Amino acid sequence: MSTLKTKENKYNIAVIPGDGIGSEVMESTITVLNNLNLDFNYIYGEAGDACLEKTGYALPEKTIEIVRNADACLFGAAGETAADVIVKLRQEMKMFANLRPVKSYPNTNSLAENIDFIIVRENTEGLYIADKEEFTDEGAVAKRVITREAEERIIDYAFQYAKDNNKSKVTGVHKANVLKKSDGLFKDIFYEVGEKYPDIEKEDFYVDATAMYLITQPEKFEVIVTTNLFGDILSDEGAGLVGGLGLIPSANIGNDGALFEPVHGSAPDIAGKGIANPIAMMLSAVMMLKYLDENESGEKLENAILKLLTEAKVLTGDLGGNATTNEVTNEIIKLL
Ligand code: ATP
Repeated sequence: MSTLKTKENKYNIAVIPGDGIGSEVMESTITVLNNLNLDFNYIYGEAGDACLEKTGYALPEKTIEIVRNADACLFGAAGETAADVIVKLRQEMKMFANLRPVKSYPNTNSLAENIDFIIVRENTEGLYIADKEEFTDEGAVAKRVITREAEERIIDYAFQYAKDNNKSKVTGVHKANVLKKSDGLFKDIFYEVGEKYPDIEKEDFYVDATAMYLITQPEKFEVIVTTNLFGDILSDEGAGLVGGLGLIPSANIGNDGALFEPVHGSAPDIAGKGIANPIAMMLSAVMMLKYLDENESGEKLENAILKLLTEAKVLTGDLGGNATTNEVTNEIIKLL
């Protein structure tokens, strides 16, 4: 474990284990990555509840600097301080795209067998802008911001992702029948940007209908692009669709950096027991490997995870097994 940036390594990876099971699944994932013959230099940074207690800062400037200087960042989880850590990091690094793949794996509680889509969520505006929310004499008001620049950027990202990953369709999700101006604009931009991608099918749905279709016909989706709040809600629905939080990775992508993290949090109820499922963190590492064009290693790790789930002999409690995090880690290494 190195703390120095070296010139010899191909990539510098910022590693922020964070709180609770974050540090457990991170340790497991780094152990697995160390068995993949990668030319990575890992630079560890502190953040989260324990860091706040120790240093007085949930996200010290030093940690931001480590992320800024790295080629990519692996992030475990932050507890109560999540908003001060991960939301701030996304803002600092201008990571405008939040990617959440939803895929059904064998021997999980997936509602259907052939689910494989990705949610591309706008990360910088919509309803999630703290200074646009305020108390008023009557109660409180939140302002929903939709700018042409940010929506063009995320919609173009979604179409480009579809093109690069051989997907045939992009679905734009909005509520333009009620939010006629803001989501009307989103819908217009969706089709404007879509014109640049003649080979990709386009469709748009209202967010409420999408919530239903995700249950009734989830296999029909390939790439969903949507605004901040809708993307947040639909991606947790996606997690429920394919069997829970222990399996869902995510990526935050910007022009100057990328951060990969499991969708789950610090899980204080099971922290310290050594029974957390490390797969969501490992699949986040798979996303990072593909982002860094380390495709062979990415596929190798993904295939080992698929094999582990197919064999169903060494699984953690959330997947119906009784294996520990360490046992899953060792089994993955064996399957690599
Ligand atoms: P936080 O406040 O950090 O978000 P939380 O407990 O509210 O923590 P999660 O950490 O997302 O939210 O956990 C929700 C539930 O899912 C918990 O019961 C937790 O034990 C379970 N869970 C989450 N991730 C995993 C995992 N990787 N392995 C096993 N169980 C998990």
